[in-house]
Amino acid sequence: MSEDLSTILNHLGEERELGYHAVVPPVVQSGNFSYPSVADMRSVVQHEMERPLYTRGFNPTLGILRKKIAALEHAEDALVFSSGSAAIAAAVMSFVKSCDHIVCVHKPYSWTKKLLVELLERFNVSHTFVDGTAAENYRRAIQPNTTFFITESPNSLTFELQDLRAVAAIAKEHGILTLCDNSYNSPLFQHPIDLGIDLVAHSATKYLNGHSDVVAGVLAGSAAHIRQVMSKEFMTLGAVPSPHDAWLLMRGLRTLELRVNRSADSAASVATFLEGHPRIKRVHWPGLASHPQHELARQQMRRVAGLMTIELDAPDEAAVERFCDGLKRFLIAVSWGGYESLQWPVCALKGPSGYYTDLPFTMVRLYIGLEDPQLLIADLKQALERI
Ligand SMILES: *Cc1c(COP(=O)(O)O)cnc(C)c1O
Repeated sequence: MSEDLSTILNHLGEERELGYHAVVPPVVQSGNFSYPSVADMRSVVQHEMERPLYTRGFNPTLGILRKKIAALEHAEDALVFSSGSAAIAAAVMSFVKSCDHIVCVHKPYSWTKKLLVELLERFNVSHTFVDGTAAENYRRAIQPNTTFFITESPNSLTFELQDLRAVAAIAKEHGILTLCDNSYNSPLFQHPIDLGIDLVAHSATKYLNGHSDVVAGVLAGSAAHIRQVMSKEFMTLGAVPSPHDAWLLMRGLRTLELRVNRSADSAASVATFLEGHPRIKRVHWPGLASHPQHELARQQMRRVAGLMTIELDAPDEAAVERFCDGLKRFLIAVSWGGYESLQWPVCALKGPSGYYTDLPFTMVRLYIGLEDPQLLIADLKQALERI
């Protein structure tokens, strides 16, 4: 990659001469584009991916984002979707066919699991979930019809890593395509493509946008791979964000470096405090030396981000609820990656919803936002005393 981070975030792709030299690129809130002549239209139709014809395919505001995301991920090209789930689903569906087999890390993001178990199964695409903490488990799961590997390192609940370089090497030996859900790291803390992974997806809803006001997703990879996704599932499923959401996402990117580093710094302080507390049984956060894969995290990630899970030393759900309800500075909510700190108690998602029934009720996921970390620590301290 030739561009440095600050140029990517602040200038790359923003051809200001095309937008009245406005400092901030305009939102091109148009679904359709017209041409002065038949010849002009004909030439654009042939370049539907990079020239404005119809916004489901290309829109100038999204075009700026595509360049920035590709550069951030050390990729040749990128696509922007209306959700992270759409990005992952389109990527997988573009490269598998009936009778293929997929190997996926176990405990992936819930809707990645549903994609495999509920959607692709119906189209005769089978899968095996593997414990990804040993790369060899990917090799062992390979069948003659295996065409795709899914990684998510670390996952966003129990923070287990996969050795991406090793998994990618196994895939290459067998002509298998690889995808990494890199949402946890943002594009700043881990570059899967540099480790040999083919396709990188993010929920842009999280760190990339960072303000909890947009749902979006991105996919990055080689020009050939992105072209294949674009010409098939991207256009067919049509999960494109509005130009206005793309513009908000671009605005979020301006502060990406500041936000993710602040979140990671504060997470380190919070994790260190929590690890030593008598009411905490365990802190799942790869930045701690006690994490079983801390060494791998140091090797393949530049930093460890602001999401962690704690296990409380609590006798029953009522005690967990006293802790959670007692936290004043952590909103009770799903998602993460915004400015605001959040808590996500596993016990709230057990039961009829059917999510995560295999996880202990004492688990609470914490997202460390941009607030003063000392205030967050003081808040955790007083809530832990309520257990
Ligand atoms: C949120 C999330 C997704 C899904 O993204 P959406 O934007 O909600 O569709 C996928 N993977 C991970 C790790 C996530 O946190």
